Amino acid sequence: MDGIGMTSRRTRERLIARLRGKGADDETVLAVMAEVPRHLFVDEALASRAYEDTALPTGHHQTISQPYVVALMTQLLLDGRRRLGRVLEVGTGSGYQTAILAHCCDKVFSVERIGALLRPAQERLAELRLRNVQFANRDGYDGWPAHAPYDGILVTAAPPAVPPGLTAQLADGGRLVLPVGPDGGQRLCVHTRAGSRISKEWHEGVTFVPLRKGVD
Ligand code: SAH
Repeated sequence: MDGIGMTSRRTRERLIARLRGKGADDETVLAVMAEVPRHLFVDEALASRAYEDTALPTGHHQTISQPYVVALMTQLLLDGRRRLGRVLEVGTGSGYQTAILAHCCDKVFSVERIGALLRPAQERLAELRLRNVQFANRDGYDGWPAHAPYDGILVTAAPPAVPPGLTAQLADGGRLVLPVGPDGGQRLCVHTRAGSRISKEWHEGVTFVPLRKGVD
């Protein structure tokens, strides 16, 4: 599972060094990313490129997120904490970000609107023995109210504007991290709840597939 040559632990360490060079500096997140074998989350034909810092296609017109962006979003979610309680992920995709979250959260709830992507993602997490994830084939535009409140919500597809239902599902002190904006003009946005107050910060520009409504 650890891989050889282009998929080896050493190749992964080189990716971590590159992420550090770009400014990722949360040691908890970097240690987890050094553990999780990203090549298991892409098509075999692309495995040799799994430790480049780029997004890669996963079929169904979706992509596995760029490692630097995974590091950054997870770091923004943790905000210096080493571990979170309950976290909702919207957009399971390949399951790579899910696996990173499973290592630093007690329980992950992950929703994906494309049913055909969900099964392989679940199998990868099972292969890695990550058992603290509950998946669902559902539209996460309005979150997953049944399991709220969450200490963190991470969205890996971009809506044009922040869906109002998501901040309502944050626990006190909880953070929502998501890309917001139109194609070509998205930025990472973080909302933090303190009691009934929600504060908002903007971070760097990113490129994600759009958040779509409905289930396939
Ligand atoms: N974190 C994933 C990124 C996948 S791309 C990875 O690294 O592999 C974003 C995913 O969000 C796609 O799989 C897409 O189908 C899904 N998605 C888009 N809109 C959604 C919605 N409303 N609810 C749930 N999933 C959604």
